[in-house]
Amino acid sequence: MSAKRDRCRICLKWFVPSAHEGKRQQVCGRRACQKERHRRDCAAWRKRNPDYDREDRLRRRIRAEETPETETRKTVTPLAGFRWDKVRDAVGLEVAVVVEETGAAVAAFSQSMQTERNGPRTGGKEAHVSPR
Ligand SMILES: [Zn+2]
Repeated sequence: MSAKRDRCRICLKWFVPSAHEGKRQQVCGRRACQKERHRRDCAAWRKRNPDYDREDRLRRRIRAEETPETETRKTVTPLAGFRWDKVRDAVGLEVAVVVEETGAAVAAFSQSMQTERNGPRTGGKEAHVSPR
């Protein structure tokens, strides 16, 4: 019986690939190697999707710390109909995100101003504006 053996890409030791993974398995089953493989996969993924993290970090950076994320996201923004992927293509990621967040902030502000104006008289409505 001659089991097919492969060399682990990480520790470079020979191993017998598990039957169902067959040719696709390039890393042995040792925990350290599996962990390293996962790390490399993630790094490769980030390299293929460089904007993913960048956008997230930028959003967090330009958003006020205490802004409750879900409240802002739920706000109906006047820019909601924009094709942000197209905007991004045109002006670049940074500008698109800044404009988008500005739109959300303006919408939230005008909404809170409206509620403030109507709030005390209509009663009960002010509760959802400032959850703090
Ligand atoms: Zn290994």
